[in-house]
Amino acid sequence: MDSVRNIAVLGSTGSIGRQTLDIIAEYPALFKAWLLVANNSADLLIEQALKVMPHAVVIGNEALYDKVKQALSHTDIEVHAGAKAIAQLAAHPDVDTVVTAMVGYSGLESTISAINNGKKIALANKETLVVAGELITKLLETSTSVLYPVDSEHGAFYQCLVGERHEDIEKLILTASGGPFRNTPIEQLAHVTASDALKHPNWSMGAKITIDSATMMNKGFEMIEAKWLFGVKHDDIEIVVHPQSIVHSMVQFIDGSVKAQLGLPDMHLPIRYALGLPERRLPTDERKMTLCDYASLTFEKPDFNKFPLLNAAYEAARRGGNVACVMNAANEIAVAAFLKGELSFNGIYETVYKTMQFIPFIETPTYEQYVETNLAARQYATSLLK
Ligand code: MG
Repeated sequence: MDSVRNIAVLGSTGSIGRQTLDIIAEYPALFKAWLLVANNSADLLIEQALKVMPHAVVIGNEALYDKVKQALSHTDIEVHAGAKAIAQLAAHPDVDTVVTAMVGYSGLESTISAINNGKKIALANKETLVVAGELITKLLETSTSVLYPVDSEHGAFYQCLVGERHEDIEKLILTASGGPFRNTPIEQLAHVTASDALKHPNWSMGAKITIDSATMMNKGFEMIEAKWLFGVKHDDIEIVVHPQSIVHSMVQFIDGSVKAQLGLPDMHLPIRYALGLPERRLPTDERKMTLCDYASLTFEKPDFNKFPLLNAAYEAARRGGNVACVMNAANEIAVAAFLKGELSFNGIYETVYKTMQFIPFIETPTYEQYVETNLAARQYATSLLK
């Protein structure tokens, strides 16, 4: 790291985006926030821009362009709007690293643009790999672009695999907190509300991922994310519930040895690690873990009956093609409806499962077919809500 690296933060106003700006601010000699992108949170985007003075900002929602432009008119900051501008600026020659921290499917187009332009990508938008892992993997093979995981579990796998041979991996052990309903009896899940689901025991995250964590869809997504990131079959990824969220994940090798990565449940850690790659770890004065504060670390099998979206994710991984894209699209619709109180907690799974059965299978989708699949699945899932 000789010169300051320009970072594009896609989704700067979300939970991961805000924490990424913390890390950029922690190392001003190494990083500069060159581009900030938000979808709808214009006020926070303006506030962030005035603080970090990026080269440019993009507001995804074009109706908010005038507001942002006006507020930044006394500065040199370029102001743009819309999805095309996001993809173009993420591919700008001055950008070194793109942090993809947008929510859901919306991350796909700009991630592809960044890959096609050889950017280093700190991947926080796991849905990109869930939706189109096969396509992304193919694009990476012919690009100088590299993907570094920001997800804490995948950061853990990455660290456990440093210095190891791929053929020595026996399985990946993906840890899960179990979410807020780990101890809730299965028959009560029909009555839980969005505010119950938003009380995550360990991690402070955005609303979408917190609901995904409560249904364990998030862990299913992470299984698929791991499959693509590390080239491991879904059968060789085991999910283990670890309520303390201290062991961020593990790798078991063919000689029976298991390596684990531990740390506090704080997203600053995996972001700091991802931004330091590939050169080095970045020193910090932030609070570090004292193992003695965690007298017991426990592990248990997940309950696939109680959290059937885990089954859906393994089914999507097994069937391949556009199935995970369908699953993700239906889940986005269902979670939004649940957050608005328009769908029950168990209704999330029902919506996802029915949509997965309905949408026609495509074995090797093109980008356009992913776009069509996403749209069709959203429409069908929405029709189920009526
Ligand atoms: Mg995670």
